[in-house]
Amino acid sequence: MAIDLSLLDADQLVAATAPRGPVCILAGAGTGKTRTITYRIANLVDQGMVAPTKVLAVTFTQRAAGEMRDRLRLLGIGGVQARTFHSAALRQVRYFWPQIAGDLPWRLLDNKFPLVARAANASGVDSGKDMVRDLLGEIEWAKSNVIGHADYAQRIAGIGRTPPTDPAKVAQVYQRYEELKTSPEGMLLDFDDLLLHVAAALENAPAVAEEFREQYQSFVVDEYQDVTPLQQRVLEGWLGTRDDLTVVGDANQTIYSFTGATPDYLLNFSRTYEHATVVKLQRDYRSTPEITNLANTVISKATGRAAGTRLQLEGMRDPGPEPTYNAYDDEPTEAREVAAAIRRLLDSGVPAREIAILYRINSQSAAFEAALADAGILYQVRGGEGFFQRGEVREAVLQLRRAASRTDLPDDPVTVARAAFAPLGLTPTEPEGAQARERWQSLNALVDLVEEIVRTREASNLQEVLVSLNRRAEAKQPPAVDGVTLASLHAAKGLEWDAVFLVGLVENTLPISHAIKAGDEEVEEERRLFYVGITRAREHLKLSWSLARQEGGNKNRSRSRFLDGLVPELEVEKSPQRLKRSRTCRVCGNPLDTPAEKSLGRHTDCEPDYNEELFAALKRWRLDVSRAAGQPAYLVFSDATLLAITEAVPTDAPSLLAIPGVGPVKVENYGEDVLAVVADFL
Ligand code: ATP
Ligand code: MG
Repeated sequence: MAIDLSLLDADQLVAATAPRGPVCILAGAGTGKTRTITYRIANLVDQGMVAPTKVLAVTFTQRAAGEMRDRLRLLGIGGVQARTFHSAALRQVRYFWPQIAGDLPWRLLDNKFPLVARAANASGVDSGKDMVRDLLGEIEWAKSNVIGHADYAQRIAGIGRTPPTDPAKVAQVYQRYEELKTSPEGMLLDFDDLLLHVAAALENAPAVAEEFREQYQSFVVDEYQDVTPLQQRVLEGWLGTRDDLTVVGDANQTIYSFTGATPDYLLNFSRTYEHATVVKLQRDYRSTPEITNLANTVISKATGRAAGTRLQLEGMRDPGPEPTYNAYDDEPTEAREVAAAIRRLLDSGVPAREIAILYRINSQSAAFEAALADAGILYQVRGGEGFFQRGEVREAVLQLRRAASRTDLPDDPVTVARAAFAPLGLTPTEPEGAQARERWQSLNALVDLVEEIVRTREASNLQEVLVSLNRRAEAKQPPAVDGVTLASLHAAKGLEWDAVFLVGLVENTLPISHAIKAGDEEVEEERRLFYVGITRAREHLKLSWSLARQEGGNKNRSRSRFLDGLVPELEVEKSPQRLKRSRTCRVCGNPLDTPAEKSLGRHTDCEPDYNEELFAALKRWRLDVSRAAGQPAYLVFSDATLLAITEAVPTDAPSLLAIPGVGPVKVENYGEDVLAVVADFL
């Protein structure tokens, strides 16, 4: 079957159809990087340039790997390996272990915490929870940067890194931790060890390298801006002297620097491979121009390394609603209002799986989970306490494990799972009540997952299914539940939704307090996180923050610095005395929910009667002004404000100033102009 390349634009086509050899796609969010590499693989295979089983595609998450396999299957291409660095390494270590270590047994270490705690204790370092966590992070960082314990102290001094405690002590804990993993009975390998072993085997064991390189010939890496030096070393081991490598990435979306990841390999690619095909993509197919404008404005303020590689996104979709900005008194109110807005989106036909709430830290999900549950809206949490950590899911897996030890059950794991989950609440139809429904939804999702595992031949019996489930639980990969997604900004990477709520946008959360303390580079990484969040939205983007944590609490939080200059309602917020708040919508008569709607006097979606020609004239004027000033139109006035002006028909400065969204600065800058436009229609 020929691959239909008409679904790619001209630039994407260049990357997809370049012959085997080095290709680099440097492009912004939503420009179709992931789509392009998928087509590139399909095309290489289709053209007979490589066998599908000889392609290894590396993605950032298990979910992305699954999506890529699905997309390739839809294009009629099966057998391509799409994996994360870790899962690829795990497979390879399993395969090569006897050749490099003989019959020495090994096991994957899934929880490092107890070992690091023991190592800390043995080294006379405080083994409290926080310190152990910091030490663990530091050891991971060192390993990702290919820094051994012997060099640790010297290397961090060289780059001015702040260690969690005395560097000599950290090195000692690190060394002890490594020792604790090794015993004559066998070895425990953590995730980084898998990568290290693969790299070492490819570098030092010619037979292993030869066999591997015969097996894999063509490599593709997505999200290459976030590759660590250790992962890069593995990649180089895979390649050997070959150069059949396609990489894609966006330096502006580097958000894992804290793990040692760096965009340097991406940015230097064309120097490493001088004959590489380099493609830049600018057209954003994901988001409306309103959203790409905002994304461009946010990233235009970035400083540092990535700033030099700034790519302007050009929104290809039809215009949509302006992003909204809302300040709330406290977090529970913010969560309730977000849930109410989600309910309206659901009612207007946006599917739940197309809506996401994104936040900076996992613990922020709690308030939103509670509000959604209260509103009877199903959701799933990505990252954080994931699907497999839920009580009902753990219970269900336990039941399945019990069933596996029986001999009198049917062969089909799906049938067994259904029967085992029935007493836990898997009724034939969806029950009433938010809690019961959520439980039912989880159990159903687990059955779906078992079904998928069997269907894709990942497992054929219950024992193997349990192994697969366990692996997923470790990777915290929840099956697709048809609910609203709650995710941290980190976990949202590469994904997209019709509607995105970016919540909790306050100082010390975004940017996070430790980044503010650490310095400019760390704050820049937080800005990129904000950029990643904005660019996840296709159509609806709603930004919010709250001034107090608790209801009635101290309003001591301030809005995130990243919102400075973006928030059209700035003046409204500062001058509450000017707000003409109304509790019901003057168009439909129903109660109003958000402060923004109350100041507007109607629901944002309720279109009032107004003079369309005046509105159009004001928009034309705004376009001229924004073009002349080289800034996005909404920074002059938002659509909502222009509409409010159209409705109010102000005749003088005070009546203009009384309109929500119009502050003294705007009156000074644009008042005369606006009144002149309005005067033409009086
Ligand atoms: P990110 O930087 O967030 O990873 P990306 O560059 O990988 O984004 P994709 O996820 O591949 O972008 O594509 C974004 C969206 O645009 C997807 O919904 C994709 O199907 C769509 N898309 C990509 N290219 C085209 C195109 N040529 N025509 C229409 N839609 C496209
Ligand atoms: Mg992508």
